Amino acid sequence: IRLPLVVANWKLNGDSQLLTEMVNNIQQLDADNVEAVLCPPFVYLNEDTQDVKKGAQTIAIQDSGAFTGEISGRMLRDVGCQYVIVGHSERRSLFNETNEIVAKKVLSTLAAGLIPIICIGETDEQRENGETTAVITEQVKAVLDVLPNYSDSIVFAYEPVWAIGTGKTATGDQAEEIHAMIRKTLAGYSQELADLTRILYGGSVKAENSEELFSKENIDGGLIGGASLDVEAFRNICKNA
Ligand code: 13P
Repeated sequence: IRLPLVVANWKLNGDSQLLTEMVNNIQQLDADNVEAVLCPPFVYLNEDTQDVKKGAQTIAIQDSGAFTGEISGRMLRDVGCQYVIVGHSERRSLFNETNEIVAKKVLSTLAAGLIPIICIGETDEQRENGETTAVITEQVKAVLDVLPNYSDSIVFAYEPVWAIGTGKTATGDQAEEIHAMIRKTLAGYSQELADLTRILYGGSVKAENSEELFSKENIDGGLIGGASLDVEAFRNICKNA
């Protein structure tokens, strides 16, 4: 019932030429088997990506006004975005986005008719201190507690911070354990939400390890950083979903 979703998070990388190449190379993917979404930097979101879906890497809390440098949900929708990555660990650690801010951004995303991809995950230190479950549960609840209803489409992305850009991936079993726990938390709010919500894995996903990760029952796709800048690698990851 959950269509696999693979999302390219380009972060502060790429250019219009790479976007064109990527679109040309993933257009032929079978949309019945996988949904692929490209999240390049804001300035490229206005480009025509044909049938390939687009998402932003963050969003303003506000709709409009004197907020220099910000981009609103209405603007993202205006240029054809369907998704927004919210609360990526880099936004949380480098740009001070707290659980409260992340929750507000999720509401702004939904209000604009867009689908939030809500990033959660523990740091190395938190894992070593045995705080993984508590940290993730708190991150998930901070969002679910403010949702006006449970019928809007949302996506979670579990990205252990220690696996991002490090080459260290969680094993399929390690990730599956956390994904199952997240789904159980969702079920505490709404069984339908738990059944329909896609939970992606992110953190050093490559073509080589994607098949094992995606074979797990509760892993519904991936949020891809480094490998999403390589046309061949990203297409192979999509094929494995
Ligand atoms: P890497 O795939 O480069 O580890 O990045 C993961 C990530 O942060 C995607 O949002």
